[in-house]
Amino acid sequence: MKMSQLYAPTLREVPAEAELRSHQFMLRAGLMRKSTAGVYAYLPLGYRVMQKVMNIVREEMNKAGGQEVLLPILQPAELWQESGRWADYGDEMFRVKDRNKRDFCLGPTHEEIITALVRSDVRSYKQLPIRLYQIQNKYRDEIRPRFGVIRGREFIMKDLYSFDRDEAGCDLSYQAMYDAYKEIFRRCGLDARPVEADSGAIGGDTTHEFMVLSDSGEALVVHCPACGYAANVEKAPCAEPAAQDVLDTQTAGLEKVHTPDAGTIDEICTFLDIEPQQCLKTVIYLADGKPVAVLVRGDHTLNELKLQKELDCSELLIADARTVEEVTGAAVGFAGPIGLSIPIIADQAAAAAADAVVGANQTDYHTRHVSVQRDLSLWKTADLRQCREGDACPACGQALDTARGTEVGQVFKLGTKYSEPLKATFLDENGKERSLVMGCYGIGVSRTVAAVIEQHSDADGISWPISVSPYHVVIVPVSFKDDQQRQTAEELYQTLQNLGVEAVLDDRLERPGVKFKDADLIGFPYRITIGPKSLAENKVELIERGTKTVELVDIAAVGSVLQERIHS
Ligand SMILES: [Zn+2]
Repeated sequence: MKMSQLYAPTLREVPAEAELRSHQFMLRAGLMRKSTAGVYAYLPLGYRVMQKVMNIVREEMNKAGGQEVLLPILQPAELWQESGRWADYGDEMFRVKDRNKRDFCLGPTHEEIITALVRSDVRSYKQLPIRLYQIQNKYRDEIRPRFGVIRGREFIMKDLYSFDRDEAGCDLSYQAMYDAYKEIFRRCGLDARPVEADSGAIGGDTTHEFMVLSDSGEALVVHCPACGYAANVEKAPCAEPAAQDVLDTQTAGLEKVHTPDAGTIDEICTFLDIEPQQCLKTVIYLADGKPVAVLVRGDHTLNELKLQKELDCSELLIADARTVEEVTGAAVGFAGPIGLSIPIIADQAAAAAADAVVGANQTDYHTRHVSVQRDLSLWKTADLRQCREGDACPACGQALDTARGTEVGQVFKLGTKYSEPLKATFLDENGKERSLVMGCYGIGVSRTVAAVIEQHSDADGISWPISVSPYHVVIVPVSFKDDQQRQTAEELYQTLQNLGVEAVLDDRLERPGVKFKDADLIGFPYRITIGPKSLAENKVELIERGTKTVELVDIAAVGSVLQERIHS
């Protein structure tokens, strides 16, 4: 490819809308352009990277027993009504109507479509297991599309669905995908960690996310430097409170104190000169419309996902001020657990509190010296809080660290969550009808490209790993007007192509500085600079983008040197 013809409009300025490094460089290096919020057009360089990632994904899926299909983007509402998700999916789903006013959606995911496909053709256990995948656009109407392709409304995903006869078979499919994912991300040059995750709207019990750690990732991850355990904070279980976390045991009786206008943890701590961990927050929720009081220590953050799981409700809302006043008899900020007639659920650390301050259920009053065990009757105690840095690792007990990360893939065991409502069954060897046991496995292809940039870039631009780089090398004659430089460059360009090295020849009549800046921004792994000084010795400069090391190499040898590095 000649640079003069390459459609790669680079930008010198950082686009104002781009917060993340990957987003900035995808725009600046001319890999993509925004069409509308959360929707992007991929330009030639960006699409070449995308195709390289897709090919790696495809090779590893095929090795792991996957067969590629292409499923419809336009999906009828009826299938989603069968699974119950037409109502559950909410505003994230793009819904459309045809000319006869029939409902459709643009596929946010494909469990329904593929389950319906398989149920119509699979009859016998002899046809199992089946592992089908596709690489295709997905649609999600994000409230706030941001971070470029990381949270877009249209994005490219690989999704594979496995159908097995039983749990044991599903375990094998899951393991095959888990191993394939590790290999895919390794080949893309990513340091991706499998972490325990929450299954969210997709459902199922066992699930892992593959996270790429980087300073600007969108998710928070806790990880253990001692044993390697890692989990999304949304999912990470908290260890039971250790002895030092249990608040002072003491026997003073309950005491009501006047605390005018001190309705927040900060205000009450200042007023009474105590620490947040000596307070208990009482938060009133409506679980499927029924009020419940939730008790968490003042220095802890409630994890609503854990709470919802524990309450086993489909709708969980924080109660409005009127409900709080009705239930507690006091203004918001002064709710407390003593004397409530609604069920109280406490986080395990809150349940261990023996000398705490709580709201008194009377505006402008708190109660102190509360021992939860002595003074309250709890409906339930559970792990309800968000894990945080310094907490004990659930695997080994050492202190956890936190980091930012970007999720690039996720694997789920679905069980019969979709096959049962959609009646996807098979006959076992005894002629008995059974539901298919399913798994689903996604990789965000466009996200993976962004994650590669997050881990492989510096102040000057991208530094692609060879495996996914749009081209392997750029040849830059210092002056393309110079006959000798031009001739050497054109010969070298031909030689490299014959050797299977993907080369770009910068044939523009630009200043060398401009050409070098573009080369660094676009991120070619190697640059060959042809200048008068080295040419006098029949040599060229070979520069490695990642390390910026410069070598003088004989012109005759540079092709084989590059060929060897690219294929090793
Ligand atoms: Zn650990």
